[in-house]
Amino acid sequence: MNPCVIWFIGLSGAGKTTLSDALFEELKNKYTSVLLKKLDGDLLRNGLNNNLGFSLTDRNENIRRSAEVAKLFYETGFVVLASFITPTHQNQKTIDEIFQQKENSEIKNLFRIFIDCPLETCEQRDVKGLYKKARTGEIKEFTGISSPFEKPLLSQTDLIIDSSKHTVKESIGLILDKLEEKGFLQKV
Ligand code: ADP
Repeated sequence: MNPCVIWFIGLSGAGKTTLSDALFEELKNKYTSVLLKKLDGDLLRNGLNNNLGFSLTDRNENIRRSAEVAKLFYETGFVVLASFITPTHQNQKTIDEIFQQKENSEIKNLFRIFIDCPLETCEQRDVKGLYKKARTGEIKEFTGISSPFEKPLLSQTDLIIDSSKHTVKESIGLILDKLEEKGFLQKV
């Protein structure tokens, strides 16, 4: 498998971390010589991005820095699994620009997966209790509740998975198939 960045987009609770973790294990076991690195919003916001809030401007800077970090790992030879809500079209464009994606171009270093889970399901899952806090106003500017989420354009997505309709195992199968189809990996 060649170095690349696999970027998970979606609402909080959509399943980005769950699927990224499962994919990590799958790749680790099958492609033993591949260098793997996981990145996510919490990790970056704890350090490099700890001066950023959740305004749309700060969110874009959060995504820009995170994508630049992912790019550094990719350029060093890693397969990067990046999970970030990436809520706006501007954010999604920022990633494409950093990886120099052009519309309809053959993508070689960035693979974008939109985990398209209905807000109601994410809110029911409420893994970290954040939706409850967002509904009571304890958390402000929460994506899907008090801050926008713009579904990525089809032209800016390589794969869409509805995690309310597929099991984790099925989703991993879909991801591996598409990665193979797009030439990111050769199945072993
Ligand atoms: P995110 O990283 O997008 O915020 P998480 O992966 O942290 O989302 O949370 C998703 C939650 O949904 C987890 O508790 C996971 O176990 C659960 N879940 C239930 N069904 C699925 C599924 N089919 N795919 C992914 N996650 C699922």
